[in-house]
Parts: sequence; structure tokens; C-alpha cells
Amino acid sequence: MRMKTCPRCDSSLDDEARYCVDCGAPQTEDAAEELDEYVQRQAQQMTAGSGGAGGENDGTDGGESGFVPTDQLTDREQLWRRGCYVLGYGTIVVALTLVPQIGAFPLILGGIAILPPIRRLTAEPLGSPLKREVMAGLYAVFALLGVALLVLL
Ligand SMILES: [Zn+2]
Repeated sequence: MRMKTCPRCDSSLDDEARYCVDCGAPQTEDAAEELDEYVQRQAQQMTAGSGGAGGENDGTDGGESGFVPTDQLTDREQLWRRGCYVLGYGTIVVALTLVPQIGAFPLILGGIAILPPIRRLTAEPLGSPLKREVMAGLYAVFALLGVALLVLL
């Protein structure tokens, strides 16, 4: 088997290797292009914030299965996202005016939980973003708790 060395980290590689096994550097023009496309798709997915894709894809099978194109974000999802922002920020703003009262804090947490970027953050440790229903549920729980505390105290 012929060997070559990775230009980035000097690891010995199979001459046929498309990517370095140690540092992941692409070893051929094709692999470099493929990596570029993969990164761009990932970036698009991040900006779109569309959930549910996740999973592993090494980009070598050429399949599109794991990716949700930006233009598949439906009007309903856009509306939902906008609604989440309005509701989240609205709740936080109202809660901040109530802040010495203990009930304001669950309201702030709830407002934060429903903001769309938070779902994206949950994708990091969990592999895929939490469902919107989960975030809406979290919001409802915190909001109810906050209101209950405001009414009772
Ligand atoms: Zn390397």
C-alpha cells in the first residue's frame, strides 16, 4: 500500500485517503470541495434554524438525506419563529418591570426558553434540537409558575 503524509499534521496516510484520519484535512481537490459544500450547508442550516435534521453525515455518500434546505422553511414555521420571538421578548420585558417580585424570575426563564436560538443551543449537547412543543411547554410551565407566584405573594 502506498503511503503519503498529511501536509497539515505529517501523519502517514493511505495514498487513497481523501481526508486525514488525524486532523481531518482534505487530501484531494474533490475532498476539499466536498468539505466546503458540507460546511456551507451546515451554516445554512444554522441560519435557517430548522430542527430535526441532526445526525452524522461524513459527506462521502453524496446523499442529501440529513439536510433540510433553507427554502423548505414553510411560512407556518416562519410565523411560529416570529411568534416565539415576540412572546419571548414580550414576556422578558414585562417580567423585568416586575423584578423585585419573585414571580418575575420564572417568567424571565420562560421567556428565554421559548426564544428560537435557545432551541439551536440545545442541539449542541443533544444531537438534535428540542421540539418546539417542548420549548412551548417549558414556557407554559415557567409562565404559569411566575403568574401564580405574582398572584399568591
Ligand atoms: Zn493531518
